[in-house]
Amino acid sequence: MSYTHKPTVIETIAEKLHLIADLHAEGSGPATKSAAVDGEQVNCPPPDQWDNWVEYDSKSWPERKSKEYMLIPTACFNCEAGCGLLAYVDKETMTMRKLVGNPYHPASRGRNCAKGPATLNQIEDTDRVLYPMKRSGKRGGGKWDRVSWDSVLDDIAGRMRKAIQEGRNNEISYHVGRPGHEGFMEWVLRAWNVDGHNSHTNVCSSGARFGYAIWEGLDRPSPDYTNAKFMLLVSAHLESGHYFNPHAQRIVEARMKGAKLAVLDPRLSNTASMSDYWMPSFPGSEPAILLAMAKVILDEGLYNRDYLENWVNWQEYLQQDYQGTPVTFENFIEALKKEYSSYTPEFAEQESGVKAAMIVEVARKIGEAGTQFATHVWRSASSGNLGGWAVSRTLHFLNVLTGSVGTPGGTSPSAWNKFHPDVHAKPKPQTFWNTLQLPDEYPLAHFELSFLLPHFLKEGRGKLDVYFTRVFNPVWNYPDGFSWIEALEDESKIGLHAALTPTWSETAYFADYVLPMGHSAERHDIISYETHAGKWIAFRQPVLRVAHARMGHPVEYTWQANIGEVWEEDEFWIELTWRIDPDGSLGIKQYCMSPYRPGEKITIEEYYRYIFERVPGLTAKAAKEGLSALEYMQKYGAFEVESNVYKVNERTLSEADLQGSTMQPETGLITKNGKSVGVQVNGANCIGFPTPSRKQELYSRTMVDWKWPEYRLPVYIKSHVHQEIMNKSNGEFALVPTFRLPVLIHSRSGNAKWLAEIAHRNPVWMNATDAKSLGFEDGDLIRVNTDIGFFINRAWVTEGIRPGVVACSHHIGRWRREQDPAANRWSTNRVEIKRQGGGKWTMRVDESIEPYESSDPDSSRIFWSDGGVHQNITFPVHPDPISGMHCWHQKVRIEKAHEADRYGDVFVDTDRSFAIYKEWLAKTRPAPGPGGLRRPLWMNRPFRPDEKTYYL
Ligand code: SF4
Repeated sequence: MSYTHKPTVIETIAEKLHLIADLHAEGSGPATKSAAVDGEQVNCPPPDQWDNWVEYDSKSWPERKSKEYMLIPTACFNCEAGCGLLAYVDKETMTMRKLVGNPYHPASRGRNCAKGPATLNQIEDTDRVLYPMKRSGKRGGGKWDRVSWDSVLDDIAGRMRKAIQEGRNNEISYHVGRPGHEGFMEWVLRAWNVDGHNSHTNVCSSGARFGYAIWEGLDRPSPDYTNAKFMLLVSAHLESGHYFNPHAQRIVEARMKGAKLAVLDPRLSNTASMSDYWMPSFPGSEPAILLAMAKVILDEGLYNRDYLENWVNWQEYLQQDYQGTPVTFENFIEALKKEYSSYTPEFAEQESGVKAAMIVEVARKIGEAGTQFATHVWRSASSGNLGGWAVSRTLHFLNVLTGSVGTPGGTSPSAWNKFHPDVHAKPKPQTFWNTLQLPDEYPLAHFELSFLLPHFLKEGRGKLDVYFTRVFNPVWNYPDGFSWIEALEDESKIGLHAALTPTWSETAYFADYVLPMGHSAERHDIISYETHAGKWIAFRQPVLRVAHARMGHPVEYTWQANIGEVWEEDEFWIELTWRIDPDGSLGIKQYCMSPYRPGEKITIEEYYRYIFERVPGLTAKAAKEGLSALEYMQKYGAFEVESNVYKVNERTLSEADLQGSTMQPETGLITKNGKSVGVQVNGANCIGFPTPSRKQELYSRTMVDWKWPEYRLPVYIKSHVHQEIMNKSNGEFALVPTFRLPVLIHSRSGNAKWLAEIAHRNPVWMNATDAKSLGFEDGDLIRVNTDIGFFINRAWVTEGIRPGVVACSHHIGRWRREQDPAANRWSTNRVEIKRQGGGKWTMRVDESIEPYESSDPDSSRIFWSDGGVHQNITFPVHPDPISGMHCWHQKVRIEKAHEADRYGDVFVDTDRSFAIYKEWLAKTRPAPGPGGLRRPLWMNRPFRPDEKTYYL
């Protein structure tokens, strides 16, 4: 269906008076047509015209000049959500003109947040690193030479070959900030036989993940907001959380249908301001509130008996904790009521500051919503507090009690809504266990202890010969950044550091190679995430490469089509892997072979072709349009694999699965070859959940076996920033540094001018009553003292945060030094860093943000000068002894800035940070566990190695 815009009266008059161009005269320009998605018209050109779409050029106004575009889909890389983007490529200049939403993406449905379209800024950034660079002079000295990709590959591959030949596989590490390509690195690292995957997850989400995993073996929530009646978020999730845009649009959809929203957050975030119930809890007290709600639900009989009886391991709980008591459901409920009797709403109010009456009201609403109760927690409280994993564990308890696990309007495990690709090569699991990443002190750590790496190196636990950082900036993002600088500068600890990055960063300054990698429209990846009750796959593709191919000028490598010599990781890893084992004698090269051309090196098209040909339903759908699976994904950029995914635990085992299995009559557990594979419920042989009981584990035998019996049930764990340790008269506060501003992307929005223009400072939020009692005015310069140093910032006096808590956004305060390449100048202060000996470091801003001349006229129009303050570098590491999560919140002491203090000043003592690392390390209860294990076999581990490595 086509449509023509009908001009308004004002437009018609303005056109007649020649105040604006007449775009509506007959035959005056390109016709506008709209696409249809699932029968609904959307504001997007129809795909049959994407190869040749004509629009007026806005920059030529008032002249009416038509421009021809190619529209090519890709997927955003500016957060994990992977929303669909549609790039407009100018066919004359072969450059990207804009990026808008792709309506054919099942999760984002044509919508994006500000960060999606701003990808164009990142691509066109005039300060961008465009060629491979090699350091000259000492590491961190700021001197760089341009080199060829060939020389980079040969140098790194040679070094890796030697390490592997000498059995030093654990000296190779790949450390990822922003992941992106499903399944790719698993293939590559296993091909190398390297246990080298190190992720950012333990400064991000592993706290929340552990709380979910201990319940159901799967570690992330996937709420079905659209169909919910009540939503409870423990975070600013609507505005800035995980899967921001796909979740936000569905939360809004539910609210438009009458659903209610409650938000637990000490800050009046944009999300809290949109909610029906804002519960400004004291940081770390959230489990007390959630358990008080559980108590109301239990006491008032609002629980879902059917779900509890069938899908919770309550029999095991009674058998273990109430030996001699008959194992009946009634006795279970009585035991549970007794267990949680102390979590009264009044106790929760005392802990959290949230009124008991509101807690009771919300609990009843949750009970009323029943199976249509959607919840979410990601970073926020679960990543801020000692024992933060108890936040997700107690939040999920409410889903279990109401039977809203995996139901329409409820909350599913993430894995049900995520597609896992089948890649062409399946090397065996690696035969190494790298204790620099998962040390024996943290047998239950959900992901690698990546933020402790500098301390592990300092202690002499090992060293790294080849260290890749990939879209990763620990010097700035992580706590304790000066300890990172100390480690990165020391060539005896890190032999070679290659930074694969789309932009210069505080970490790249301390690399040996800086290797420019593409933004979302410059690379291949496949993405699939739990955005709603469906399963989808999206294709990130290098737009200009596709455009060149469509114009009949294909290139061999993506860097040949991108700006400068910006490459993509996928092709880089294939080339590197090939060169590590040129003659095949290491057994690595075999995994790089084409599945279609025996003996030949796989190409990037072949890699994705193989995957897409194995996506259920994709080939058939593509065939309807006369396309192959790969061509379909190149054309539309996304595919819905499954919709309305619910109650996967109730799917039944096949005859083949059941063959040779046995079933325990008391519990229904079905085992095969010594492993649990399913559970019988009401006579049906279900797959259940991947836990030892195949049910939701209210009672965790694992916690008992691994020396934490006090946490065998969901309980409240007091935070390291509990209010009882705060001396208010001394200016002591809990600092919440975990919140993000919705337009920023950790350290990757520094080169996005539109985003930096919107948000460029991070003052300290302080409640007006606290400011008054301490004598602070809005805008006062304050010194925020942490356990290892201080930073100087300004106070923002507001009612938008609860008293006793201060908060500072974690995205701002970027820097570069005088010797560093002038980069990210929309957001970086130029600083002077001084190492004063004895672990003491100072940083001072010597030049704020200011306009500069470049080929982008906007750079001379910068109107802001405030680049904010780098707070994370003043935080010590706080590894949670169980989940391994860095507990971000800080106990701080706030005072007026001293006379010599200047805005942005930072002081840190890394000797002190090492001592604090030791204090937290002492909280652990190390492996081995039962049977001499490093880690429970049933629990997932990223890049799971060979089972033999699990035994100490
Ligand atoms: S939510 Fe925003 S940043 Fe994240 S993928 Fe979508 S458009 Fe990009």
